[in-house]
Amino acid sequence: MLITKTIFLDYLICRKNCWLKVHRPEFIEAFALSELELQLLEQGDDVERAARMLFPAGVLVVKTGADAVRETQELMAKGATIFQAAFSSGGFFVRCDVISPAPEGAWDLFEIKGNNALKEGIDDRDHITDLTFQAIVAERAGVTLRNRTVILLNKTYVRSGALDVDRLLQQMECSPGVATKHPDTTRAMDEALVYLKQTDEPQDGCDCHYKGRSRQCSTFPYSHPDVPAYSVHDIVRIGASKKKLADLIDRGIFNLEGIPEEFNLSRAQKNQVYVAKTGQSIIDKVRIREALASYQWPLHFLDYETFAPAIPMFDGYGPYQPIPFQFSLHILTGPDAEPAHFEFLHDELSDPTGDVVRLLDEHIGADGSVIVWYAPFERGVNTEMAARCPNLATVLTRINGQIRDLRDIFVDQHYVHEGFKGSTSIKAVLPVLVPDLSYEHLDIKNGGIASARWSEMITTTDGAERSAISGALKDYCELDTFAMYAIWKELNAIALSQ
Ligand code: SF4
Repeated sequence: MLITKTIFLDYLICRKNCWLKVHRPEFIEAFALSELELQLLEQGDDVERAARMLFPAGVLVVKTGADAVRETQELMAKGATIFQAAFSSGGFFVRCDVISPAPEGAWDLFEIKGNNALKEGIDDRDHITDLTFQAIVAERAGVTLRNRTVILLNKTYVRSGALDVDRLLQQMECSPGVATKHPDTTRAMDEALVYLKQTDEPQDGCDCHYKGRSRQCSTFPYSHPDVPAYSVHDIVRIGASKKKLADLIDRGIFNLEGIPEEFNLSRAQKNQVYVAKTGQSIIDKVRIREALASYQWPLHFLDYETFAPAIPMFDGYGPYQPIPFQFSLHILTGPDAEPAHFEFLHDELSDPTGDVVRLLDEHIGADGSVIVWYAPFERGVNTEMAARCPNLATVLTRINGQIRDLRDIFVDQHYVHEGFKGSTSIKAVLPVLVPDLSYEHLDIKNGGIASARWSEMITTTDGAERSAISGALKDYCELDTFAMYAIWKELNAIALSQ
């Protein structure tokens, strides 16, 4: 087995997890990337394609494995700038994004990243460690390096006309950082060789039972079969209270039901434990009534879907600025009215901002509240649209002033249910309050997938695929706002009940 850069970087994050990935192929399925992760990878490819424009004479190594190493050597002998140069040495294998010839037989090494800033000094995908690994393998394979550079996106770039790759990208020469990392990385590479060669599963354990759920990898249940699927690791913000979690684990307490009354927890944590222990919901009808009474008629339930490409697609956008390609709006004119539905889905390769704001202005008047779930998102999209199009700022500022966050009722602990499992996401709240409504039957079940599908829809030439994606996107976004309306209605009924 050759250790690639991906394997080595995985090893640095968690060597046990890395060993399982390498030696337990049955886990491969569990590691399957989500659509959102695939989209991020594709965006990395987009940045790499754009960065190659900085090297117009570059030649791509298309072969794989040992053939790629030979092809690289042939191209180096001709003095070519090479994309995806391959080197192998001492049990390691690496593909370098770009190498280009420098004076006196040396080479410059470039790593292309789809980030806006250099990641340095962090265990999760540190760019300098990544570059150091490549430099070590290339040097061990006999290459003399001059500069070691990371190419990044420039977050201040704003597209105007044709893509300007010289301004879109920034180059950071990192040779001093690589020199500093060299000894530790060399040592870690040697250790990885020994560790990953073991055929019997290493017994050095997995210590993520001391971390919150978001820090655990997908093999956690394999390493900790004694920890239930819903455990103390799922207590809200417990990952930020490392001492509390460690205290519970050291006492062998994995179930919420086992947490002693006197254990020090925040109000939200206490409430989550209380409802888990008793099965009794916490419902503060007075506070719910007050929150709902602060909404003004008519009510506009609004939700955006956005796509944030690494490479700006339209004028006025910078890297990763979200394109608001879709919205759904349910309008309720009074307590006994039926909600009216309006929607917008942009289906062409152009900036939808003008159409979005024109339609919102048409449907959302100066009276009434705009109800959203997690207001920072919708407010942020509006603020960015206003910054991009100052002529639309008046409407967007007005709408931002009308926004009320339905989720606040749950964040503020006016309603806590065992079934929420500590979450205030609409996907956690909906099945409890309105069990008849569900995302399960939909082709698109979350915003990340919606975003990936939209980018497919506007680029495909297949009419049937286009209309299937369009239908799925409309179904998903409509459910988001109808779900808000249904939750609002249920909360009203609960708040007004005796
Ligand atoms: S759960 Fe954590 S410690 Fe355990 S294998 Fe996964 S990443 Fe490593």
